[in-house]
Amino acid sequence: MEATEVKERIFLSSPHMSDEGYEMEYIKEAFDTNWIAPLGENVNQFEKEFATKVGSKAAAALSSGTAAIHLALKAAGVGEGDIVFCQSLTFSATANPIIYQNAIPVFIDSDEKTWNMSPEALEEAFEKYPNVKAVIVVHLYGLSADMDKILELCKKYNVTLIEDAAESLGTYYKGQHTGTFGDYGIFSFNGNKIITTSGGGMLVSNNEEKIAKARFWATQSRDQARHYQHSELGFNYRMSNVVAGIGRGQLKVLDQRVEKKRYIYEYYKRELSELEGVQFMPSNEWNEPNYWLSSMTLTSIVRPADVMEALERENIESRPVWKPMHMQPFFKKYDFVGKGVSERLFGNGICLPSDTKMTDGNLERVVKVIKSVIEEND
Ligand SMILES: *Cc1c(COP(=O)(O)O)cnc(C)c1O
Repeated sequence: MEATEVKERIFLSSPHMSDEGYEMEYIKEAFDTNWIAPLGENVNQFEKEFATKVGSKAAAALSSGTAAIHLALKAAGVGEGDIVFCQSLTFSATANPIIYQNAIPVFIDSDEKTWNMSPEALEEAFEKYPNVKAVIVVHLYGLSADMDKILELCKKYNVTLIEDAAESLGTYYKGQHTGTFGDYGIFSFNGNKIITTSGGGMLVSNNEEKIAKARFWATQSRDQARHYQHSELGFNYRMSNVVAGIGRGQLKVLDQRVEKKRYIYEYYKRELSELEGVQFMPSNEWNEPNYWLSSMTLTSIVRPADVMEALERENIESRPVWKPMHMQPFFKKYDFVGKGVSERLFGNGICLPSDTKMTDGNLERVVKVIKSVIEEND
């Protein structure tokens, strides 16, 4: 029997600390001043630096992107029985906080042109539920949604818009950073995102009062009093000063990470786009993506599952496109407005390894496997 060599694992997207060691410098500062928690200088500065980077007036550093969505909904006044429109093609963290607030999600289909919320489906939903309280749009895989049309509809119906920009830090729509168009924007620094703090999130808004209020809720809603007094329900959602130090260091290499992600995307596109049935994620002239995950659809006799299995045999990680929320056992009792686009993207989509530590040799390995599976069956 021949001994098979275990090949080096290629990841979808894994943490990548700066070569310069920026993160450690900020962490060291926190340790040297014995100020590792709760809040502190790293948190204050990370909020300021982040707000400047994306072009928002204010930001609140939180324990996760999910917490940021939860507080955005609360700030929007979403409560029991309220309807919230939510993009169906996304990660469950977008939708779960709607349930935390005892509100009712209505899921909205995607558009082939953006993979994100379809303005046509959104308009149809507004006609069906004119009393809706908030809309959550997502910028998946670093592609931006068609914001002009979505904003126009939200203005027309006078509804709060929340942007889930967890996957789109570094993505611009018509020159403006995603997450800054709506009333609230949220970001994530989870381990697989374009930059990471090991775990964390950010809520941004131009409404400074609302951000101050979010910070208050996130620190157990402690009233101004020496004794512990609470007039509102509180949460433990703040980011620690150590974690914020990682964030400050990572923010310095964001542009480098976007550049590498774009390089990976262009490599795949050059090598794979001519293959039978392959279509890459959409590009639009008004969208400057961060290319967080290079993704494509495959419509041929070779199924995405065949490609993903072949990659796994070579110790290469890949994933299907998100399974839409209206198809999830937990969420399927809620209404869905659309025409089957998100189902199709889920059925045909593949997210390719887009780890910024990948070498050209790694990219070659991925491309070779995909080419052999597709060409073999042609
Ligand atoms: C990662 C992610 C979140 C959640 O962020 P966490 O920081 O992990 O809570 C929300 N929405 C989308 C689209 C995500 O990809």
